[in-house]
Amino acid sequence: MIVGGVQWMTLLDYPDHIAATVFTAGCNFRCPFCHNPELVLPELVSQSSAGLDESFFTELEARKGFLDAVVISGGEPTLQPDLPKILARIKSLGYLIKLDTNGSRPDLIHRILESGWVDFVAMDIKAPPDTYDELSGSSVDISAIEASIATIARLAPRYEFRTTVAPGLSQDDLIRIADWIESGQGYWLQEFQVPVDKALVDEGYRDKTALRRDDLEAVWDRLRDRFDSGGVRG
Ligand code: SF4
Repeated sequence: MIVGGVQWMTLLDYPDHIAATVFTAGCNFRCPFCHNPELVLPELVSQSSAGLDESFFTELEARKGFLDAVVISGGEPTLQPDLPKILARIKSLGYLIKLDTNGSRPDLIHRILESGWVDFVAMDIKAPPDTYDELSGSSVDISAIEASIATIARLAPRYEFRTTVAPGLSQDDLIRIADWIESGQGYWLQEFQVPVDKALVDEGYRDKTALRRDDLEAVWDRLRDRFDSGGVRG
């Protein structure tokens, strides 16, 4: 597994648990608003990434009892050929595992969930189907996104869908995304925040205007009955 780094303690990435987060390197999307270009753009990935080695597992063993969960994030983790093997090994150490994914590889997500390696899946929904390519910066197979939504809702012990409300997304777009998901455990609207000290995949998005928090709260008021949990977060 090629990684851009490991954050050894976070209270934010796995709700209700103290987790370590592994940032896998490489992504098949080019979301223009993404603020992790070093995990996405090949020329930057090659400068800042390395293989996950034995020292990671030694450290995980040592931190058992203090940490109780591991988050595999990215980049896009499902592109890593040894992801199943890594998940199985982390699971054998007794950790909860959360997987963050863009949902582009439903067959692998299905396999992972059927194997019981992952306890929580968070999937990004970038946009309504008709503007998915624009906000993912890629040519996306919408049927794969739909298959992932259905598989996660059916098999994941715990899951959430989430949309970063990037410039270009309207309140109606967010309602259309929710209509697409229909209902389920969790849906979060994430405010688009421009990082001061990091680059964006497309720097042209730095000066674009996105919906404000008040707008998102108004949308969430229309959606809250459909989901067990969710809301607006920064
Ligand atoms: S935000 Fe988009 S480009 Fe960035 S890591 Fe996630 S899926 Fe890849």
